[in-house]
Amino acid sequence: MQFFHQTSSCFLQTLVKKYRVFSPMPRFQELPINFGRAIFATSYRSAEREDSKVHEPGSSTWYSRKRDENKRKERTRKDGFLPQAYNMFAAGAAKKRSVISGEEEQPVISTKKEVHFPPPENPLSLEEWEELKGKYDGYQIFEVFMLLQMIDYNRSIDVAKSLLAAVAKRDGDIHYKILLQYLHLCVSQQQTKEIYDMFDIMRMKFKTLEKSASTLLIKGLSNSPHWRDALTVLQQIKKQKVMTPTSRNYRDCIKAAIMNQEINLAWKLFHELLAEGLTPTMDTLQLFFDTGKSVQNDHWTNELIYILRYLRDNQIYPGEDLVHSIKQWFESDPGEKWQGNITTIKKSGQCLSCNQTLESLQLTPEEYNILKEKIMKDVIEGADTFRKTTPEELEQFRKFVDRHSPFDIVIDGLNVAKTSVRFNSSEILLEVVDCLAQQNLRLLVLGRKHMLSGTSQWKKKNMAAMSRKATFFFTENESEDDPFLIYAALHSGRHCKFITRDLLRDHKACVSDSLIQHLFFKWQRSHQMVLSVYVPKEIVRFEPVMTYDTIVQTTGDSWHIPYDERLEERTSYEVPTKWLCLRKK
Ligand SMILES: [Zn+2]
Repeated sequence: MQFFHQTSSCFLQTLVKKYRVFSPMPRFQELPINFGRAIFATSYRSAEREDSKVHEPGSSTWYSRKRDENKRKERTRKDGFLPQAYNMFAAGAAKKRSVISGEEEQPVISTKKEVHFPPPENPLSLEEWEELKGKYDGYQIFEVFMLLQMIDYNRSIDVAKSLLAAVAKRDGDIHYKILLQYLHLCVSQQQTKEIYDMFDIMRMKFKTLEKSASTLLIKGLSNSPHWRDALTVLQQIKKQKVMTPTSRNYRDCIKAAIMNQEINLAWKLFHELLAEGLTPTMDTLQLFFDTGKSVQNDHWTNELIYILRYLRDNQIYPGEDLVHSIKQWFESDPGEKWQGNITTIKKSGQCLSCNQTLESLQLTPEEYNILKEKIMKDVIEGADTFRKTTPEELEQFRKFVDRHSPFDIVIDGLNVAKTSVRFNSSEILLEVVDCLAQQNLRLLVLGRKHMLSGTSQWKKKNMAAMSRKATFFFTENESEDDPFLIYAALHSGRHCKFITRDLLRDHKACVSDSLIQHLFFKWQRSHQMVLSVYVPKEIVRFEPVMTYDTIVQTTGDSWHIPYDERLEERTSYEVPTKWLCLRKK
């Protein structure tokens, strides 16, 4: 490796000699924590976006924009009928729900300030820069702002150099923040030589590099003939131990290794990334599948299958681009004759393309016991979710459940009754209870004490009619009902389902263990019923619970891979509805 290459013509080296640039600057590790981060974070993200645009040419045929538009229209249509039938765990359901209820569940707040000033097109002198600075007074560091604008407007690097020269002439020094944005500009324009010179200078001046500079250097160097230096920077980050590399740092290095045909190195880096506890980016995985199409050997096959198992074990769903690459990789093997189809799954759990039944969502008895013990313990030991109840009420409830369980269905009474404000609360609840009682199910209705007050919404005669068909427990008006619901359902056993439209997110957030979180979500999806259609005195219909698990799965000669559609917004508690079905011909 050429460690100190010739930089005689280098602009920055000249500045260093002439003005002793950088010398009074603090060492990187002495810089304040937030140093440069705010400026850097926003602007670097936009550079990343540019990247993803150029990735995977030809993939635009993969989806139809028109189809997505139709779907959007469908989603925003307000249905007069109460309430729309939907699966609350299906991708996009939260969005749909927020449109129906007229409230955004997760508002998207744009923090990017839209300020645009065209920077000069040609290099300026110190005097000219000072004059310009006067016009834009008020920006904390004018030069940083200007360099960011140069990135946006893709200005010639000579303009930036003239700015740096002016600063050096004026101050005898160049502030680190300014230098960082200059590096940012070089990286965004892939000015390989400048990037390498910056690397040289930084290595000479500073013992260690902070995160922004490291990330920029890795990105810039990995795209150049000096790509091995990107690995050096990566290893330095690891060695320092004050910060960890990001999965994007690894992505850049892996990409460089693959582009330079250092395949074993690429896989070594990939396993190192996983060992660091990082989640690989989708395009890292895609890179391996795309490269795999032209490398037909057992080692590659095993590694790519390893990736698919990794997705399964971590409940990660590939994006549309990645699943497209996975499909192409399977189909590229001339010996195996795989065929891939995009499909959806019937409610029964059968694949519409091949008719195979997918893995069951039911927890095994062992899994159920693990979940039950952990959750019940949390509840009883007074975890956060129960802080709104009193120990007395909790004890009373425990005794009550012991005496009356097991139940077949636990109903969140208030939640069901409030499904629509257009109908009378107690009438909705009465009809739901009636409907289920006809099926000889043992019902528990959780309510609040105010429901007994005999108001127009809570008619006494309706409450009395219900009490003959179901067991009731009324909590204090201030108590949260989620934990009561979960406790009673789990205590009743594996068969017991529960009815609420609530997502129980608060409760899930309290479970820190990822295995328990996974089991809880699985249990929720397979046990939660939602009142989906209600017409007074006519129809009471529930959305059937899911029967199949939405997870990457294989039987050896078939693979079923759920994936996220490009324009579908899916929240963490929803699962994709689209699948890639792969079968051997
Ligand atoms: Zn199938």
